[in-house]
Amino acid sequence: MATLDSCEVTEFGGIEVNPHYETVLKAAGLAREVASDIILAVGGGSVIDAAKFLGSAIAAENSDPWDEFAAGRYPEKIVPVGCVLTLPATGSESNAVSVISSVTRDLKIPFANEAARPVFAIMDPSTMASLDRRQLGNAVVDAFTHVVEQYLTLPGNTPVQYGYSEVLLRTLIEWGPKLLKENSPDARENVMWAANQALNGLIGMGVRQDWSTHMIGHAITALYGIDHARTLSLVMPSLLRFKIRSKQEMLARYARNVWNVQADDDRIAAEQGIAATEDFFRRMGLPVKSSDVAPTKISADDIVAHLERAGQVQLGEMADISAKEVREIMAAVT
Ligand code: ZN
Repeated sequence: MATLDSCEVTEFGGIEVNPHYETVLKAAGLAREVASDIILAVGGGSVIDAAKFLGSAIAAENSDPWDEFAAGRYPEKIVPVGCVLTLPATGSESNAVSVISSVTRDLKIPFANEAARPVFAIMDPSTMASLDRRQLGNAVVDAFTHVVEQYLTLPGNTPVQYGYSEVLLRTLIEWGPKLLKENSPDARENVMWAANQALNGLIGMGVRQDWSTHMIGHAITALYGIDHARTLSLVMPSLLRFKIRSKQEMLARYARNVWNVQADDDRIAAEQGIAATEDFFRRMGLPVKSSDVAPTKISADDIVAHLERAGQVQLGEMADISAKEVREIMAAVT
């Protein structure tokens, strides 16, 4: 606040974890009243996602723009967003996506508006000093899965993106456990930077992307309130096993280049890569089995119903994960 001394500042607090559309609309009302010309998001992914959505909501003519935005229709000119990042994980400070939950619609879905990509981001790793182990573990695993969802798909002629993805994964594998153990300045710097690079758009350029773990995870968070990263660690190993055939070539490459797996056989290498991933999530303190989130009982039927409401009925890089496949994947999360 001291550095903003020369600016006229209106504060808006109370953005929830998994930000609510209804709260963002309240902020939009206030921002219109005071004619805000820039939004400064100070926080982690939830605050930044809300701020980016807010930039469009302020400029929208419709006071209830959910359906318009969900259909990709945004105002031409929006209020720009700058960020002060306090919790690295989502890469939201450098990308165009906001994941927003609507209480009245009982939905949690992503919105992408290129104009909402922040105009600047201040990333100071010392802000991570006050984070607890759970937040740090979640941060590392969320960033890890962001890379995986863009990398473990189908092989293509994108050696730069794949090579960079592998560096990011190896960095998170090396520095994630150190961050949990000592939360040292070096560990904070490396994780904050890796999490940013994981989802600023670079490694996703020109590659097939998956995002099915995230869409199923969003449904689980919306239904049961489980932390975002913890839904991903639950779903991803089962989903990778379910898709082992179609992803085998990239999975084997991943196992060898990221986990140093020595197996010559691609199928065996792929299996070992998935097992190493699951073990990493566990070491970071995240759940990998449904019993790890007891007493919450996750229902595949409820997840499928949420995905149908969200219009997410063909997931995966091949659009081959529908209701039946989601049920099979969730049945394997035992
Ligand atoms: Zn995520």
